[in-house]
Amino acid sequence: MTVTLITGSNTGIGMATALHLASLGHRVYATMRDLNRADDLRAAAEAQNLTLEYLQLDVTDADSVQQAVAEVLTRENRIDVLVNNAGIAPFGPIEEAGEAEVKTVFETNVFGALRLMRAVLPAMRQQRSGTILNISSVAGRIGMSCLGIYCASKFALEAASEACAQEVVPFGIRVAIIEPGFIVTPILDKALESLNSPAVSSYPNVVERTRILFTQAKEVGGQPQAVAETIAEAIHTNEPKLRYTVGDSAPMFLKGRARMSDEEWIAMGRHESSEEYFAEFGTRFPIPA
Ligand code: NDP
Repeated sequence: MTVTLITGSNTGIGMATALHLASLGHRVYATMRDLNRADDLRAAAEAQNLTLEYLQLDVTDADSVQQAVAEVLTRENRIDVLVNNAGIAPFGPIEEAGEAEVKTVFETNVFGALRLMRAVLPAMRQQRSGTILNISSVAGRIGMSCLGIYCASKFALEAASEACAQEVVPFGIRVAIIEPGFIVTPILDKALESLNSPAVSSYPNVVERTRILFTQAKEVGGQPQAVAETIAEAIHTNEPKLRYTVGDSAPMFLKGRARMSDEEWIAMGRHESSEEYFAEFGTRFPIPA
């Protein structure tokens, strides 16, 4: 049985992935930083007649990471799949990002994921098999205004993933990067709540259009189940790739940005009104037919 550890399993993509992989027969260790938040996952697992193992794991806490991984290894004597899913996304212009907030984003999205990778790799090397899936984002490929700190963390995760993939391939271990576009999960509301009001920001235009974009994302975004299915495909495929995009908006953003020069992309920041900005946005990033 495939032994799988997922971080941040209590909501969104982590929850959908825990349920989906369990439905495919994985022995899933659904970890979360606070086991008191497991009620929704427990109820969904019960409703689908699925068995999950629950462990406490805060990716920012080295002891917690070590204990959780040691517990899985003690119980199973192996670990086949790590899904580095836990992540946070506070938004705002770079100038207005607080030092503590920046550090928390990197602690969670970058150092947390690296901590997990280092924790599972000795066992995977010994097994001479294993798959690590790091949940990045389209924001790991495009630097977007108001998402600068989040993008920086996901770019860093992508670089480390790519390098590690090359290091571990001789041991029969794979590292893959999942790049969702907009997916309707609680992270969208958390991101919107984190935005300063345009009234108090020195960057009211960019804050305003980010608010509009992410409010729309809640209506047009994909479902976490689509990400769970892509993760399953990345684990079980016979033709492994490094990167997997998922969600309709992912190719829209990546192809649209690839068609633009860096200078054209930067110049989009000059628009003073949201109407002008979204008029150009609509031509640069057409929704796929
Ligand atoms: P959610 O906010 O629903 O899930 C994030 C999960 O991460 C929560 O379970 C949260 O736990 C957990 N988490 C946060 N900090 C820690 C920590 N220190 N230790 C352990 N767990 C932690 O959002 P999503 O499901 O959307 O996000 C999952 C991943 O997908 C993230 O990495 C995100 O960046 C990425 N992603 C999401 C996209 C989207 O549009 N939804 C698009 C692209 C990428 P808690 O409830 O305790 O806070």
